[in-house]
Amino acid sequence: MIMDITSSTPVAIKKKGNRSLQITWEDGHVSLYSFRYLRQHCSCAGCIEEWTGRKLIDTEAIALDLSGLKVESTGNYALSFVFSDNHNTGIYHFDYLRKICPCLSCKE
Ligand SMILES: [Zn+2]
Ligand SMILES: [Zn+2]
Repeated sequence: MIMDITSSTPVAIKKKGNRSLQITWEDGHVSLYSFRYLRQHCSCAGCIEEWTGRKLIDTEAIALDLSGLKVESTGNYALSFVFSDNHNTGIYHFDYLRKICPCLSCKE
């Protein structure tokens, strides 16, 4: 996948209900994430072992109905979330969010 600045610059970020988040990117692409999916992709030190990249959490054990209580921007480059399980230590850089876009055309 090609990464450029416009593909990782969001022009709109909005919650769709309590369970998902929609990001519209500057290149027109729209990503729809469930908060559960975002929680599974948390890359904080409590979820991912820093040196090996090994996941320290059981991603399948995360509640199916996990919701997002808060969405906050961190600087101009990232978002952070407060999930309904109170996890809030992850910082999601925009280029990372674009990279993990779950839509079919990004997964290929
Ligand atoms: Zn985490
Ligand atoms: Zn996509």
